[in-house]
Amino acid sequence: MGSLNIENVKKAFGPVEVLKGIDLEVNDGEFVVFVGPSGCGKSTLLRVIAGLEDSTSGRVLIDGDDVSVTPPAKRGIAMVFQTYALYPHLTVKNNMGLGLKQAGTPSAEIDRRIKIASAMLSLEPYLERRPAELSGGQRQRVAIGRAVVREPKLFLFDEPLSNLDAALRVNTRLEIAQLHRRLKATMIYVTHDQVEAMTLADKIVVLNAGRIEQIGSPMELYNSPANDFVAGFIGSPK
Ligand code: ADP
Ligand code: MG
Repeated sequence: MGSLNIENVKKAFGPVEVLKGIDLEVNDGEFVVFVGPSGCGKSTLLRVIAGLEDSTSGRVLIDGDDVSVTPPAKRGIAMVFQTYALYPHLTVKNNMGLGLKQAGTPSAEIDRRIKIASAMLSLEPYLERRPAELSGGQRQRVAIGRAVVREPKLFLFDEPLSNLDAALRVNTRLEIAQLHRRLKATMIYVTHDQVEAMTLADKIVVLNAGRIEQIGSPMELYNSPANDFVAGFIGSPK
């Protein structure tokens, strides 16, 4: 389970409307990529989906439940940020397990999940290290592992690779694709990188200035862009 319905979501900060009426359906298990220029509202939309930010109007439903009235622990969402957001004083293991511990998960169950996630993400050698003793790529894998151990039905990734160098971006992208195949969870992934979008997505959502320009598979957008904006963004021949 992990279907998402976004119904006419608008979001304003003061007088500035940042999301101008977003409608979107995401099926259970889909990998959906949001693309669009800086400032178009991608992160705001993710935060509204996560329930970290209230929409001004409209609704976000996860498996039919309105996010804004579901307690955070019951939403089944885990978010991965560009900046990793790890606790510097905690080991990798404790960074991964903290959320579960706070939720009252028994420690044997926490250990079991950390073992599985750290194997998936090749983190076993680093479990007793602190974030400062890791490379950027390793830190981002810890942040992804912290999401995986929560066993969410919906993963939200906000430009998770943009602080990594080119080689690490490719590796980590492949790991995320592999994770999607294994977990079969729904994933929403924000990027402004066309290659990431084209290679990861079942469905791409092209955003521009708070509106959706087009929704389609990578090939649909490439072969039949709705307008010049989409064509320019996806790199279709004109
Ligand atoms: P993106 O992730 O696509 O780069 P954002 O969703 O971060 O875009 O931001 C969209 C717009 O909303 C930007 O103009 C940004 O300045 C504005 N914005 C985002 N968060 C806030 C906030 N908390 N208060 C006021 N304006 C905000
Ligand atoms: Mg952003």
